[in-house]
Amino acid sequence: MESTIWARNILLGDCVFAKFKLPEGWAIRPTLYPPDVEEYTEHRGLKWAASGFIILDLYAGRDKPLRLEIKAKRSRRWLTRERAARSLGVSADSVREAVAGGHEAYYAVKESRRLLGGRRMEVKLVLYCHETQRTIRFTVEGAPEHVSSCLAEVLELLTSVTCH
Ligand SMILES: [Zn+2]
Repeated sequence: MESTIWARNILLGDCVFAKFKLPEGWAIRPTLYPPDVEEYTEHRGLKWAASGFIILDLYAGRDKPLRLEIKAKRSRRWLTRERAARSLGVSADSVREAVAGGHEAYYAVKESRRLLGGRRMEVKLVLYCHETQRTIRFTVEGAPEHVSSCLAEVLELLTSVTCH
């Protein structure tokens, strides 16, 4: 099933962040966090959110969802490993390479401890879409045992993204 992630801006209209192919039984749902879109790039008849973010619930085979955050930033600069590492919040040698949406991409998986909410695991992937001139960062976050149990599917979901 394809899921189109979009947000409405009163002045700009409906802007698409990305599209995903969801595995069987998975779903992406809106949350109470209001999305933000400040500008868009027009490409193939769609307005692509070029600056902004959206926070969603990603139902990945369990009752409790993972959190999915998508952050877009207008940019004319191609990603380097160093820039990707900064965006992912890790050191350059813990960044891994991938292809996502047909673009060169970088990702990292890390565990962190929260003051409230205990341990969390994050999968972060960043790519530069030259077609829409956007740097897009995807973060999937949840309980470590939940994220690690579906890590391969999460990476598959993120790398098969449509971003232009
Ligand atoms: Zn793209």
